[in-house]
Amino acid sequence: MVNDGARVRSRSSNRDLRKTLSLSRTKAGIHDKLHAETIVIGGGVIGCAIAYELAARGQDVLLLERARIAEGASCAAAGMIAADSEHFSSPMMLNLATMSRQLLHEQYEQLSSLSEMHIGYQQNGFITPVRLEKDLSRDSTVTAPRSIASEIWWDEITVQQEAPWLSKDIYGAYYRPLECDVLPVNLTQAYAKSAQALGARIIEGVHHVSLRVDANGVQGVETSIGTMTCRNVIVANGLQGEVLMKQAGLQLPTMPVKGEIAAVQFSDHSRQLAPDKTVYAEDIYIVPKANGEVWIGATVLPGESDLHVSAAGLQKLLERAASWVPGIGEAQFVRTWAGVRPSTPDGLPYLGACESIPGLYTAFGHHRNGILLSAVTGSLLADFIEGKSSEELNVQGCRPERFNKRGILH
Ligand SMILES: Cc1cc2nc3c(=O)[nH]c(=O)nc-3n(C[C@H](O)[C@H](O)[C@H](O)COP(=O)(O)OP(=O)(O)OC[C@H]3O[C@@H](n4cnc5c(N)ncnc54)[C@H](O)[C@@H]3O)c2cc1C
Repeated sequence: MVNDGARVRSRSSNRDLRKTLSLSRTKAGIHDKLHAETIVIGGGVIGCAIAYELAARGQDVLLLERARIAEGASCAAAGMIAADSEHFSSPMMLNLATMSRQLLHEQYEQLSSLSEMHIGYQQNGFITPVRLEKDLSRDSTVTAPRSIASEIWWDEITVQQEAPWLSKDIYGAYYRPLECDVLPVNLTQAYAKSAQALGARIIEGVHHVSLRVDANGVQGVETSIGTMTCRNVIVANGLQGEVLMKQAGLQLPTMPVKGEIAAVQFSDHSRQLAPDKTVYAEDIYIVPKANGEVWIGATVLPGESDLHVSAAGLQKLLERAASWVPGIGEAQFVRTWAGVRPSTPDGLPYLGACESIPGLYTAFGHHRNGILLSAVTGSLLADFIEGKSSEELNVQGCRPERFNKRGILH
């Protein structure tokens, strides 16, 4: 059974990065008989990206968030847009990731200007270092799809010139110049504020939402602030998506995979030891962020959904990071936090229209790539709402109803 989304619960958490979100918050008062063409459930990066895209296309959209915008996994992420570095579970996902990185590149200026927020978008490129020549052959035996079109090999001398802050025992490194990163809370809030600027309505603090479905399909939602009618509902509440779908009699298994992250900061004195590109190593990533911190992540703890950071987890992160970037040991420790990735049995998100229930759509289960895939998910769901099919959009593998009631692929 899934737990309570993913929130940061360390003393000084990633949520502290929220500048005062001047989302013109609609108070969760009584909203009986509210109507919208499309209701999006969930205010994480996925729900907010969908609301933004629908509003940008002139659609009438209302987003309902149980707590606050960017409350779940989206406030725990490292914010890497790693389309070339990730090993994806299928060529379709690699394609979506590449499209999404490009879309975000095209969107970020408009998002920043509509929302008046700094989303921390930076294209610094990622480095995957290897210590031994034999590690290269191991890399080539990995069969998972990964983009190699834009990667450049750096030999030992080039590594020392381009990344003098890396450990001196590096044999060489792949450099992927198109990779970028964002501040994930800011991106999520920027999607939300931009959606509002374009006419979307957003209500936070809606503690309870349930689906109203009859033989004709979706009729609306019952909420703690009243009944709402609509033509379409998009379930985009991450880890909690499974619970809502069960109400409609559909089985969309979703599993928690906890991850722990730490942030450090370099003083002026130690700045020359700090990485200026993301290190995407096989056992750790080290991401210099636009807010001046360096984020180190992440542990992978399947089945765990609490938000505590263990001493052992933190020790592992810092040790691994310092083995690639020795200067990490000189940096000032800032804070640590944990979040829970919404995962699915086949590693693919549930994207699209439910064939058995007209008007019901899903967009959850993005596991470790929800920030990366947010832009393309917004675009795809808007296409689905406009009547396009999974086949037309080439995402049949993500069909929401691909598992039957016993959790076995159709
Ligand atoms: C440690 C860690 C590091 C990560 N790093 C990266 C990374 O570098 N790059 C990347 O692309 N991805 C990364 N991810 C994955 C990414 O964070 C997730 O895939 C993404 O945030 C999922 O977004 P979401 O909107 O689906 O879910 P969430 O962000 O969890 O949002 C769901 C929202 O729905 C709300 N909600 C829940 N139930 C209801 C309800 N019944 N009614 C209304 N609202 C509801 C919740 O309050 C929440 O705000 C990382 C994740 C973790 C944990």
